[in-house]
Amino acid sequence: MKYDYLIVGAGLFGAVFAHEAKKKGKTCLVVEKRGHIAGNIYTEEVHGIQVHRYGAHIFHTSEKRIWEYVNRFAEFNQYINSPIARWRDELYNLPFNMNTFSKMWGIVTPEEAQKIIADQIADLHITKPRNLEEQALSLVGRDVYEKLIKGYTEKQWGRDCRDLPAFIIKRLPLRFTYDNNYFNDRYQGIPMGGYTRIVEKLLEGAEVRLNTDYLANRAELDGQADRVIYTGMIDQFYDYCLGVLEYRSVRFETEELEQENYQGNAVVNYTEREVPYTRIIEHKHFEFGKQPTTIISREYSSEWKKGDEPYYPVNNEKNDSLYAEYKAKAESESRIIFGGRLGSYRYYDMDKVIASALELCEREL
Ligand code: FAD
Ligand code: UDP
Repeated sequence: MKYDYLIVGAGLFGAVFAHEAKKKGKTCLVVEKRGHIAGNIYTEEVHGIQVHRYGAHIFHTSEKRIWEYVNRFAEFNQYINSPIARWRDELYNLPFNMNTFSKMWGIVTPEEAQKIIADQIADLHITKPRNLEEQALSLVGRDVYEKLIKGYTEKQWGRDCRDLPAFIIKRLPLRFTYDNNYFNDRYQGIPMGGYTRIVEKLLEGAEVRLNTDYLANRAELDGQADRVIYTGMIDQFYDYCLGVLEYRSVRFETEELEQENYQGNAVVNYTEREVPYTRIIEHKHFEFGKQPTTIISREYSSEWKKGDEPYYPVNNEKNDSLYAEYKAKAESESRIIFGGRLGSYRYYDMDKVIASALELCEREL
């Protein structure tokens, strides 16, 4: 065999594994079906602006070990994510906090906000939320649910809020303080110079072949390495033999505007059902850019079908049990290891992807 490892996918998971393997003296061949490295964290500079080509990426973690790890490959700026939610012509701060409640109800104190929420859900008697709708209502009451959650979530996931798992909404902090930080994590920022450079550094010393689909060249590629790390879709790997897992895809409509500042914030969510896109990203604000022009991306969410880019696994009961069947199959493989967001069908953030790649390295290397 020419290489110790064949790594399928030059995203964050594959790149961390390649880096650690190289440190242990292993040789790696990385194959990537796209024409560039970095997977969904790929950023590209356009007129001095780092454009997040596959959606806005904000690095955040509570794990010091992971923060120190990424800081070896980039310097991070002081960006704190504070999206704005727009419902018709009303603007609210996110995540749900006293600024949101004060604007919604004209109140001032946490006690007033808590009382309004309690009154709005008193008749529902939710003790153990069974789905996203019940979870959201029990946390923030009817008004916030109707204006800021229901429409956005149904656009984003293409499903009724009653058919979605509660954990999706629990990703967002809920606070009764005046604090617009979208994350509770201790560490947060955007890598200066973009994410692609981090992956470039991680992949130094590995051989990378772009525009190479592993599944289309399996026989030839399998013959080149002892072991395979696969970060593509697990159901596709098995030719969907047990059924097709559902994903959400996103279409990005990106344009450059001849003005310095379009929306005054990096992220504005459009939470009403009638606006077809979920949010508009203005990329320069992630890096406090002062360029004369600006670049914005509208995000349109859609159901994934074969041939589309899979972005979000839809972790409901049906898909999770199908995934469990694929996972059992995967565990019987002797030379193939599945990982990353698609290989493990998990709604993983970047820090979790790095942590799981490092765990694999500890077991494997
Ligand atoms: P990927 O980045 O998907 O990489 C997998 C790679 O494998 C891809 O490049 C793919 O082309 C390649 N591949 C697949 N099949 C094959 C094949 N057969 N042959 C060859 N190559 C193949 N996380 C955060 O922490 N903060 C955020 O703000 C954030 N925002 C996000 C916004 C969006 C819209 C999305 C979709 C995700 C976001 N994430 C965010 C999550 C983040 O993108 C992931 O955690 C991370 O990119 C996962 O890395 P990965 O290597 O597992 O997968
Ligand atoms: N969400 C919402 N309204 C918003 C923002 C988010 O209802 O304005 C919900 C929506 O269901 C979304 C979930 O909260 O899927 C998690 O949001 P997050 O910003 O973490 O989504 P991601 O970054 O994964 O796109």
